[in-house]
Amino acid sequence: MDHPLWASCGFDENTIADRLHLIELDQEGMEASGRILHDHIIVPNLDAIVDRFYGSLLRIDGFNRIVDGSSAAARLRESQKHYLLGLGIDFHKREYFEERLRIGSVHQRIGVPQSLYQCTFQGLQSLLIDYVPDAIRNDGPAFAEVLRFILKITALDMSLAVESYCSSRVSDLTKSLESERDETVRLRKLAVTDWLTNLRNHSYSKRSLGAALEQIRIDKSPLSIIMADLDHFKEINDAHGHLVGDEVLQIAAGRMLSGARADDEICRYGGEEFLFILHDTSIIEGEEVAERVRKRINTDAMNSRDIQLNVTISLGIAQARDGDTVDTLIERADQALYTAKRAGRNCVRREE
Ligand code: GH3
Ligand code: MG
Ligand code: MG
Repeated sequence: MDHPLWASCGFDENTIADRLHLIELDQEGMEASGRILHDHIIVPNLDAIVDRFYGSLLRIDGFNRIVDGSSAAARLRESQKHYLLGLGIDFHKREYFEERLRIGSVHQRIGVPQSLYQCTFQGLQSLLIDYVPDAIRNDGPAFAEVLRFILKITALDMSLAVESYCSSRVSDLTKSLESERDETVRLRKLAVTDWLTNLRNHSYSKRSLGAALEQIRIDKSPLSIIMADLDHFKEINDAHGHLVGDEVLQIAAGRMLSGARADDEICRYGGEEFLFILHDTSIIEGEEVAERVRKRINTDAMNSRDIQLNVTISLGIAQARDGDTVDTLIERADQALYTAKRAGRNCVRREE
């Protein structure tokens, strides 16, 4: 048999024994007292106990709101009967613990406040004491024994109820934390991603380049950037419409990714302009990346809506120098790009 709550609340044979020992339910004669409670107090008075138990509960507004309608109340009464018939029987078994924990977690799920639920155990104690038959009541030692047992067994059930309340609440909170975390990851990604090309966006590119400049001041590694711009892109839009233009941007982004290396960051800087941040890369190595990207863009025609388009790109490259800021470095790469455009486009040019 599976014991999910038993296990998730941290119970094993040892912790069950500890719990019974603490409540002194491991003493001699406890099983017999459980039988007396069942045979002489609960069974002969089952309906009366349940009636009084719910009679007092239903007078409480908070409970009435939760148990909305007579069928829900009838179901609760039935489960209360079942609960009472099991009270104090085989309480050292893991099945007893499992059942008690389950009842607590059901009440937590339907929204019964923990404080209210805890009070019901106190109410139940005095109800059970009320129904102790005269034969026992008039026998001092037997009465004391039954009273002690009622107090102990309700204390055990109350402790298990609190346990399952806490464990259900923790598991609900864990689930909601996990979904919050997933949502945070999704939103963070969205905040740095360009909606059309899925590349990193403009604001990310500025922040990342700023951080890279900080880093090389410490580790003195080389850092290069490429500013790239699709050639005569306006003509594609004018001739075939914006949707074709959008698709060309998406295809071009995919080709740039395939031409660059895993650690290169490719950002959509503006409309058809892209900024590559090449970490730990000199201008000579960066030029190889730029040339590979240029060829990837241009090698095959791009197919958008059955239109074949020969697209080219111009690229300007610059390497970071001492004292560079984001703006001065981008400015030099921009100048190199401008030189590539003037040189006839579809080519790579280095900064002066
Ligand atoms: P050059 O070779 O000198 O770069 O010429 P060009 O036509 O590429 O440059 P220009 O700056 O004249 O035009 C860029 C065009 O890019 C104009 C603008 O409508 C288009 N564009 C910018 N962003 C987008 C976009 O998200 N989607 C589409 N379809 N077009 C865009
Ligand atoms: Mg352009
Ligand atoms: Mg442009």
